[in-house]
Amino acid sequence: EWRPMTVAAWIRRNAHWRRDKLALVSGDRRYTYGEFNERVNRQANGLLAEGLVRGDRVAVIANNTSEAVEALGAAAKAGLVHVPINFRLSPREVEQILTHSGARIVLAEQEFAGLLDGIGPCPDLKRIIRHDPRDQGGSEHEAWLAGQPDAEPPVDVTGEDDLLIVYTSGTTGSAKGAFFKQKHCVAHAPVPALVYDIREDSRLLMVYPHNSIASMNMYYIPAWMQGATVVLADARGFSAERWLGQVERERITHCHLVPTMLIRVLDSGAVGQFDVSSLQTVGYGSAPMPKHRVEELSATFGNILVQGYGMTETSSIAAALDKAEHRRALAGDGRRLASCGRPVFGCELRVVGEDGHDVKPGELGEIIFRGPYIAPAYFKDPERTAQTIVDGWLHSGDLAELDEDGFIYIVDRKNDIIISGGFNVASKEVEEVLCWHDAVREAAVVSRPDPEWGERVHAFVALREGAAADAAELIAFCRDRLSRIKCPDRIEFVEELPRNALGKLVKGDLRARARARAQTESQAQ
Ligand code: ATP
Repeated sequence: EWRPMTVAAWIRRNAHWRRDKLALVSGDRRYTYGEFNERVNRQANGLLAEGLVRGDRVAVIANNTSEAVEALGAAAKAGLVHVPINFRLSPREVEQILTHSGARIVLAEQEFAGLLDGIGPCPDLKRIIRHDPRDQGGSEHEAWLAGQPDAEPPVDVTGEDDLLIVYTSGTTGSAKGAFFKQKHCVAHAPVPALVYDIREDSRLLMVYPHNSIASMNMYYIPAWMQGATVVLADARGFSAERWLGQVERERITHCHLVPTMLIRVLDSGAVGQFDVSSLQTVGYGSAPMPKHRVEELSATFGNILVQGYGMTETSSIAAALDKAEHRRALAGDGRRLASCGRPVFGCELRVVGEDGHDVKPGELGEIIFRGPYIAPAYFKDPERTAQTIVDGWLHSGDLAELDEDGFIYIVDRKNDIIISGGFNVASKEVEEVLCWHDAVREAAVVSRPDPEWGERVHAFVALREGAAADAAELIAFCRDRLSRIKCPDRIEFVEELPRNALGKLVKGDLRARARARAQTESQAQ
């Protein structure tokens, strides 16, 4: 029986239709769809043989290894729930996720297995199985797989089977587990396929850590839907040269990067040393990208840019600025480059004011979502679910405006707005202005408590290599371009801004630093 609306069916179908087609490249290993399906089946059968039953959770801690990708396929085929964990977390955070998800098995890459040594007892955890991409033959995982049948696992999964718990990166608080069934992932898969134009002959380079929603919902599952090839990149640290080398070597057609990575690629000055002519789509998103950098990107890679906007809870992409819109904007006044586009296939998106009504074009409101791939809940967290999903609409916490044609302009995250003297300052706008300065590579703007104004604008700036600028100069630069109330009155220079694995700013740390500075200054007075 076919069951077309499951992730499991797509993997199975590829093993029939595209047995010898390259499915996955992971380091030195290259698996065809036939081989990939067999490995997935062995893993699924192995998990069932461990006594796991439908709905049980399987956690994975790894870099971007084939095993981590196979684990998603195995969960899909055995009716289990995949819980990918970031290898950068502390043992305490890992323990929290294992306990909260009730994971029964952890598949751990040897290099990060040490994280599990420091954790307290996780009552549901039955076994840890280690894999080592550098010692395939000798790893516990390979020995375990070898003992399992490669036949289809005997589970008749449907779209209603639970599939995924993705713990969000926690840039706005403690991590929460967005929860998805097979049907949500299946409903979302056509989105990247349409927006980025992923086809059977596409070769996708996956740079995100395996635990990000993008890895599964923008890469693996759409690739399985289309029968495309996924190439994994090392997620331990991004290097522009390594990325360019991989694009050239593997003749990559599609990639998606966060702004920090693309800025590094642009600033490396190395693009010309590599053959990147295979690229058909360069996607970017996950965080704001300064407009002048989009122009630079287009000059470097051509008119093949697509911007995606979304959240973990929206299965990844929920809105997009496509190639045609980039072309039009670049040929015109460029205004639309500041937009993240319009809602994509299947996504209902509204911008609503505090009274819950849709705002008029040009007015500020919060983005809310509804649709077949929006997370229906946070796992075992009814309180947060009720706070976030109200009357069936998921509240994003992103403040935005729409224009007359329905294009979305993100103004800021609700929590990042600075209220100075009763006036709302969008940190994103100030950051963009600072980035216009030639010496500035990146900027982050947060609030600092102030007895007179309530809050003041406090900036952290990382300079480009070899560039020089002082605080007074940057403040004067902002004064020429922003109203007084929006201008930072303190600027601190840092080597790197604190970012999570996905390149998103972790503003909590910066706010704490700004608060501490306010305290020191008030004590000194
Ligand atoms: P948490 O929800 O736990 O705080 P997080 O914010 O890092 O973690 P994600 O789901 O990874 O969770 O991030 C989603 C957010 O990223 C969006 O709400 C939005 O603020 C931002 N974002 C995504 N795409 C874009 C984009 N194209 N432009 C600007 N911001 C974006």
